[in-house]
Amino acid sequence: MSGIVMAAEEAKRLKEMLTDCRFAVIVAHVGPDGDAVGSSVALWHILSDMGKEACVMLPDSIPATLSFLEGTEQIRVFTENREANIALLNRADLIVCLDFNDSKRTDYMQEALLAAPARKVMIDHHLYPQPFCELIISHPEISSTSLLLYKVLVQLGWRDKIEKRAASAIYMGMMTDTGNFSYNSNDPAIYTAISDLLTEGIDKDYIYTKACNTFSADRLRLCAYAIYEKMELFPGGAALISLSRKELNTYHYVKGDTEGLVNEPLAIDGIKVSAFLREETDMIKVSLRSKGDFAVNVIASEHFGGGGHKNAAGGEFFGTLEEACKKFREVISLYLDADKRGGDKR
Ligand code: 5GP
Ligand code: MN
Repeated sequence: MSGIVMAAEEAKRLKEMLTDCRFAVIVAHVGPDGDAVGSSVALWHILSDMGKEACVMLPDSIPATLSFLEGTEQIRVFTENREANIALLNRADLIVCLDFNDSKRTDYMQEALLAAPARKVMIDHHLYPQPFCELIISHPEISSTSLLLYKVLVQLGWRDKIEKRAASAIYMGMMTDTGNFSYNSNDPAIYTAISDLLTEGIDKDYIYTKACNTFSADRLRLCAYAIYEKMELFPGGAALISLSRKELNTYHYVKGDTEGLVNEPLAIDGIKVSAFLREETDMIKVSLRSKGDFAVNVIASEHFGGGGHKNAAGGEFFGTLEEACKKFREVISLYLDADKRGGDKR
């Protein structure tokens, strides 16, 4: 299998951009997940070790469960010091956009990101990359941006720059974006990469425990409540869970607590699509997951102003939680009918 992820000319340009930069800002998407954090922290380690001034800047904070990773302590949260962060973006001569395909995904940061004069490069695995970067390395067939970054570094001849801390970050991104290698994970390159990363001395069992087994008791109770009291199942194989602000507050919700909840109904035989709707202060966050050929990114983009991958997508709904649930129930019945007929509504 070829490990080539860039044309020779693109690789040359990227190498020049990374080698020539003096101050690089690494940016990832709002609501950063393991892949966003893993890939950006890994690149930060690489650039810092090369003696570059660099920082990771995210639109909002990372889940506490991911902060065990070395390098997360330097992450700047855009909204925590807007003026200073805008100044940094304007001072950067390189901005690396990781794990997102559209500047909209940087939410509060979008305007400042687009206005910054730096050269911009995107390294990402979402479909339909938008042309806001001068160099776009986009591979939707690769299961995580972290794995793509690994392949990029290998192709640049920079494998030797990946030491334990960067390797751990890359592994975390690969693990979280595949549900601990339970979906999108049949590519042998994943396991060759893991085997190679292990030679740097990473502790994959520790990373799993830290990322997946350090939640609060309240979080477990919230998920239990959501599944026991709030899960609706629909004929044809769909599930819906919704949680209001009030319900979240009852269980002292903190960011990251509902991560993974949307996957739970997929454990039921015959359920092929699952939705989780969470009431935020200004909108309803929509998370969609599916098994097999049922594509949820189409539903996210056509009905919830979002997007994503075939089996994991999301978007937003502006209205009440009840209206969002109603919309999902209506929409999903059309897709399930079409799916049953083998039709094109997916
Ligand atoms: P999650 O359900 O974990 O928030 O998101 C799963 C995937 O759906 C993300 O990796 C991302 O690809 C996509 N996604 C989630 N929310 C949005 C959104 O608001 N807009 C877009 N374009 N994609 C989203
Ligand atoms: Mn990703």
